[in-house]
Amino acid sequence: MTPFVLSSVPFVLSLSKDKLHRPGINRLSPNGALHSPSGVQPELHVQWAVPAEAVPLPPGVDQMDWGTLQATVAQCRACGLCQGRKNTVFGVGDRSAQWMVIGEAPGANEDLQGEPFVGQAGKLLDNMLKAIGLNRAVEGEQDGQAGVYIANTLKCRPPGNRNPEPVELQTCAPYLARQVALVQPKIILAMGRFAVQSLLQTTEPIGKLRGRVHQVQGVPVVVTYHPAYLLRNPADKAKAWADLVLALQTVQQA
Ligand code: SF4
Repeated sequence: MTPFVLSSVPFVLSLSKDKLHRPGINRLSPNGALHSPSGVQPELHVQWAVPAEAVPLPPGVDQMDWGTLQATVAQCRACGLCQGRKNTVFGVGDRSAQWMVIGEAPGANEDLQGEPFVGQAGKLLDNMLKAIGLNRAVEGEQDGQAGVYIANTLKCRPPGNRNPEPVELQTCAPYLARQVALVQPKIILAMGRFAVQSLLQTTEPIGKLRGRVHQVQGVPVVVTYHPAYLLRNPADKAKAWADLVLALQTVQQA
C-alpha cells in the first residue's frame, strides 16, 4: 500500500498505486456602496438576482456549437451576476474528455482570470486529478495523462463569494447543460453543494448524496466535496478519495 502525498497541497491517498487505472489509458477523476469606517471599501455584498435590464438567454442554447456558446456566455446579461463580474468563467480543458469536473461558482481569482478552479483550491483539484492520471492542460492523452474538461454551474462570480441564488443557478443552467452535451463525458464529478444540488435538482446535503452514482443527461455523476471545503476540512480528504475511486470504477464499468 503506497500512500500518495500530493505536493504543494497535501492530499494523502491510501490506495495502492497498482489499483489506479487511467480512463482511456489503463483501466482504472453582486447595488449600493457600503461604507467602511476604516475608509477601506469592502466588497459589495448586495443581493441582486435579476437586473432590471436583464436580457433573457437567446433561443437555441441547446443547439449551439462551442464557439457560439462561449461567445453567448461572454455577453450574457440574463441574471444580476453580470453586473459585478470582471470575466465570465466558461470552462477549460479537453472538450472531448471522458471526465468532466463541475464546480460551483467563480471566486475572486476565477473572476479575475476567467478560469475555474484557480488558487489553492485549484491546486488541490489538480493534485487530485493528477493522482488518477488526469490533467486539465492535456488534450487527449499525453505522457500517461488524459485530459479533463472543467466548468462551473455559474459562469459569473456572486459578489463577495455569497451563495448562489436559486434563480441564478436556474437561469445559467442551460449553458452547463449544453457543455455537458457537447463534451459527452463518460463521468461527471460534481464538486460542492451548489453544483451538486443544482445538477441533481435536489436539496439533499452532499453527505447523503455521496457513495452512489447519479445520472444527469444520461451521464453518470459522482458527488464529492469542493476542494475549498477540503482545504478547510482536511479530515474529509479520505472521503473525497473514496469518491474519486467510485468515479474511476464507474468509468471502468461503462
Ligand atoms: S451567471 Fe450565467 S445567467 Fe447569470 S449573467 Fe452570468 S452567464 Fe448569464
